Amino acid sequence: MNPPIKPIVRVALDVPLATLFDYSADESVVPGQRVLVPFGTRKKVGVVMERVAESPLSATRIKPVLQVLSGSALLSARFLSLLKFCSNYYHYPIGQAVFTALPTRLRADKPITIKPILHYRLAGCPPAIASLPKRKVIALRILEKLAAQTCNLQQLKAISATAATQLKWLLEQGWVESCEAHISSPGLPMGGAVVAHTFANAHTLTAEQQLAVDSVVRARGYACFLLQGVTGSGKTEVYVHLMHQMLQRAGQVLLLVPEINLTPQLEGYFRNRFPDADLVSLHSGLSENQRLHNWQQAQSGAAQIVLGTRLSVFTELPRLALILVDEEHDTSYKQQEGLRYSARDVAIFRAKQCAVPIVLGSATPSLETYFNAQNGRYRLLKLTERALAAASLPTISCINTKQTQMFEGISEKLLREIGLRIQRGEQSLLFINRRGYAPVLMCTECGWLSDCKNCAGKMVLHLKDKRLRCHLCGYQVRLPRACPGCGHADLQPVGSGTQRIESALRERFPDARILRVDSDSTRNKRAWKIMREQIQAHEVDILVGTQMLAKGHDFPALTLVGVLNPDSALYSADFRAGEKLFAQLMQVAGRAGRAEKPGEVLIQTAFPDHPLFLCLQNHDFAGWAATQLAERQLAGFPPFVYQAMLRAESKEETEVYAYLNQARVAAVGLNRAVEILGVVPASLARRANYVRAQLLVQSGSRSELQQFLHAWQPSLNNIPAQKLRCSLDIDPLEF
Ligand code: ADP
Ligand code: ZN
Ligand code: ZN
Repeated sequence: MNPPIKPIVRVALDVPLATLFDYSADESVVPGQRVLVPFGTRKKVGVVMERVAESPLSATRIKPVLQVLSGSALLSARFLSLLKFCSNYYHYPIGQAVFTALPTRLRADKPITIKPILHYRLAGCPPAIASLPKRKVIALRILEKLAAQTCNLQQLKAISATAATQLKWLLEQGWVESCEAHISSPGLPMGGAVVAHTFANAHTLTAEQQLAVDSVVRARGYACFLLQGVTGSGKTEVYVHLMHQMLQRAGQVLLLVPEINLTPQLEGYFRNRFPDADLVSLHSGLSENQRLHNWQQAQSGAAQIVLGTRLSVFTELPRLALILVDEEHDTSYKQQEGLRYSARDVAIFRAKQCAVPIVLGSATPSLETYFNAQNGRYRLLKLTERALAAASLPTISCINTKQTQMFEGISEKLLREIGLRIQRGEQSLLFINRRGYAPVLMCTECGWLSDCKNCAGKMVLHLKDKRLRCHLCGYQVRLPRACPGCGHADLQPVGSGTQRIESALRERFPDARILRVDSDSTRNKRAWKIMREQIQAHEVDILVGTQMLAKGHDFPALTLVGVLNPDSALYSADFRAGEKLFAQLMQVAGRAGRAEKPGEVLIQTAFPDHPLFLCLQNHDFAGWAATQLAERQLAGFPPFVYQAMLRAESKEETEVYAYLNQARVAAVGLNRAVEILGVVPASLARRANYVRAQLLVQSGSRSELQQFLHAWQPSLNNIPAQKLRCSLDIDPLEF
């Protein structure tokens, strides 16, 4: 008699092998479940991806699933297929792709006991409002809010940062009590009925905003929109109105924002606009428990608005109605390790998969997106004016550094303008994309430079702590008293960083209040929060900072922006450097004059006639994009081709090149319609003692490229590469 045929499930495991693993299981084990399985001598958590009738393995080698893990709902078929797509498109092992997407708590087999997030409601005998002391104004507002609905602590924090203390007091008085959160079963409204919710402080939309909202709301099924609006044109207001519409239809909205934008501020802003909506955020600042809780709120359909960074594109959203990608050009959407996905591109795939509209918002869209809007694959929605009638776009002009007198890297003209702002009680911002005192230290006698011993880069001078520090690998040494090369004592800092600019300003404006904002001065999270408050409260006259200051912050008293040394990007080897610089300068320029007072931007450059600056002065993104697209077409760069980059690094140089050369031979041997470039050193040829090199492959057809990559993969797996770190990067952004 034959043994009964055992049903087989195919399981994704967190191992670097591009395959699923077969196990036997009874009928109760289904795709989307988390299971515990034997793997070698250990047990591993896996996700059941599919059931199959039979396995190519002999029955004796197939082990049974040990246990179905509890604590999480089933992953949907749609979600599993999203993960399969990512594994396939980014050529990354399926198991590792699945485990990248899951919240950390779901990757382990520890029992999941999340403390329920408590809600609060009124209790006992609510006090007469008049009887509360005046200083209890926050407590009062909490009571008012709870009279309308139960809330959790996060929702109450939208009232004030001190809500927790006041809530504690109210609990002690017995006027408020806690209850367990009930995940409201959402249930779709019948016959297109509108779901009511509070929508606070809605502005009357401008004609352009209204048109944008209407176009998206009218979309049936998948459609991709580019919302291109100058800074201050009210893109956020468009998002908010779209959310309002989707909430009325009982849909879920996913809003993706760049890493740096996700401050509690932003979350508070959306909570205030939708005070009774269930809004969750997902970002790296959350604890693993919070993250799991929020993820599950989304998965259950209870969370109506999900606000998150890159990784939140992998959130289950059963009632997804709309995806918004703010600052779609931002490079933080691209993951630079492991599963090297672009959250924007994955979001577009999801929108197609779920047949819902997606809006990509930016003042300076990526050329890929802009090109698609030009050729009709995406629909272009434009906001051409600032939303507040009084706020005009800042004037932008260049200061020719070859023709002006400079003081410590700052031109006299810029210093005069800063002086004027101080007199008028307005703020100035100096933007310089280098932290530290000076990017390199030099010996005037023998030409010695502060090279890092581990990298192909220079050690940066940090004068405050008297150190030379490599920003690439972290290696640091005490500041030498004399030249390590020749013993000469005259060591000079070359170039400027934020610290040097800060001290130059202190020398020039001894009475001014100067604040430096970079990753050194904001190492602790609270520091940056306090600084933002200081700037808002106008306790600062001059700000010196890196790109941290460029993005998304509204500083109403800021009327002058000085850009210190943008020139290195103009002649960079990276063909995207110009695109990035334009976007960055537009963004910093957008910080100036957001309220009634007009803003001015002064750019210090040795090349004032460069097309980038000419277009920038006219706020002419279209003109700039046209020149860039023409150049890219001539040179055969994206968006006219699709690229994949094979990277390798090792402490042994010969190993790196042997691997890449063999990979290249295999690629050429496949004889496909793709262009295979030469093996070259990476732009940073050595980092932390690893020699780095790369091989680029490109094609005018995305599907040709994909077919080639699938054919190439087996040969790559066969090249011996023990001490090598290698990766395949699809649609790479870093060169
Ligand atoms: P963006 O995101 O495009 O840079 P914001 O959404 O921050 O612009 O809007 C800029 C300012 O204009 C904000 O203060 C916002 O409240 C205001 N605003 C936006 N839309 C309108 C409108 N229709 N009427 C009045 N003010 C508006
Ligand atoms: Zn020397
Ligand atoms: Zn280094």
